[in-house]
Amino acid sequence: MSVSEGLSFVAPVPDGPWETFLATIDSVERYLGPLARFADTLRRPRRALIVDIPIEMDDGRIAHFEGYRVHHNLARGPGKGGVRYDAAVTLPEVMALAGWMTVKNAAVNLPFGGAKGGIRVDPKQLSRKELERLTRRYTSEIGFLIGPDRDIPAPDVNTDAQVMAWMMDTCSVNSGTSATGMVTGKPVALGGSLGRVDATGRGVHVIGREVARRVGMPLEGARVAVQGVGNVGAVAARLFARSGARIVALQDRGASIVNPEGIDLGAALAHKAASGSLGGCPGSETISAEAFWDVESEVLVPAALEGALTADRAARLRTRMVLEGANGPTTPSADRILGERGIVVVPDVIANAGGVIVSYFEWVQDFNSFFWTEDEVTHRMDHILAGAFEQIWHTADELGVALRTAAFVVACRRVLEAREQRGLYP
Ligand code: NAD
Repeated sequence: MSVSEGLSFVAPVPDGPWETFLATIDSVERYLGPLARFADTLRRPRRALIVDIPIEMDDGRIAHFEGYRVHHNLARGPGKGGVRYDAAVTLPEVMALAGWMTVKNAAVNLPFGGAKGGIRVDPKQLSRKELERLTRRYTSEIGFLIGPDRDIPAPDVNTDAQVMAWMMDTCSVNSGTSATGMVTGKPVALGGSLGRVDATGRGVHVIGREVARRVGMPLEGARVAVQGVGNVGAVAARLFARSGARIVALQDRGASIVNPEGIDLGAALAHKAASGSLGGCPGSETISAEAFWDVESEVLVPAALEGALTADRAARLRTRMVLEGANGPTTPSADRILGERGIVVVPDVIANAGGVIVSYFEWVQDFNSFFWTEDEVTHRMDHILAGAFEQIWHTADELGVALRTAAFVVACRRVLEAREQRGLYP
């Protein structure tokens, strides 16, 4: 039971991302024993910064954008979390994403706290030069919060290695140093890690393999549906296809396609690259966005945005396992329904942790100025992720709870133990 007052600066949004995060914290408190005394620390971000980002557009107009950087919890180390550019970004969303980073980093035992950032902008409406000015001004505005031992940003939705390069350059110029370790997901030429681009999707595949092995389901021939064919979804789909699985449905922002015999992924991605959409891809049927959730599969990977898997969709879903490639794709009510229906849900905080594990490797490599081969990176990531999943699977078994609860229990115990050991200042 919370003894703190609620946050005054966010209005509650039922089933919103921050409420989803809080609901999960509520559900694990009973498993925290004496550490539950500190649980309120997880219900409040450590600090949240809102910045105004004025930039000159190519036509001479001055446009203002709103940006955020949130440190959710720093008990276990510097903040770590991506930067999102999207027209729907809000402060509560960034708070939730930062909270999930705290839990994710602790669930896989990385020496990081949780952070996240974002700008409310549709980046597709900006030229490359405008995007660069936006990124550099945002980086300067949040500059006092970030750094290799404070908070290390990384890519998220609509940001990539180029955006990280601009962030790294801005910090370097502002500080008169070569600040390679201050962001991860950089181009390899600037101290990025081999294997980072594919790491999140690769991690989703590792988790799929681990679950399949435990429930006795061969991946070969399994039907896989993927929502979101970006950095995470496209790589996961490629690796599942490589394991002999059949990609039966794909969805992106503009269209959904299906083929029960298997979609030719290369052809679908080439079609999207050429036409801007999956819709009309030869060899597949284009279906409505809602019909995507009715396609029968063994594995469903939501890898787009949060809140996609609603109660109504969860009730209709015909799949055996949901691997959360996206952050927060399942609403709490949908989660309950999936649990009642016996569908295995691997939560985001472990299913998509491959990316932050390799970000951690990048940070380590930058510190040492000694770089690993891609094989070393993927092998070590696989080892850490599969080991963390084993512990979460075991905890779920031991407590008789869902994997999400187990992952949060493992992670929250670690975070709150660190909180307890550090003590409250003053
Ligand atoms: P991305 O921008 O590369 O791809 C996003 C994909 O989702 C695109 O295919 C887009 O068309 C699709 N999409 C967006 N809105 C949609 C909608 N309403 N309906 C259907 N499809 C929609 O982003 P990404 O980096 O692949 O990230 C996807 C998710 O994975 C996000 O939740 C992100 O936070 C999470 N994630 C990303 C990483 C990473 O390393 N990139 C790491 C961990 C978690």
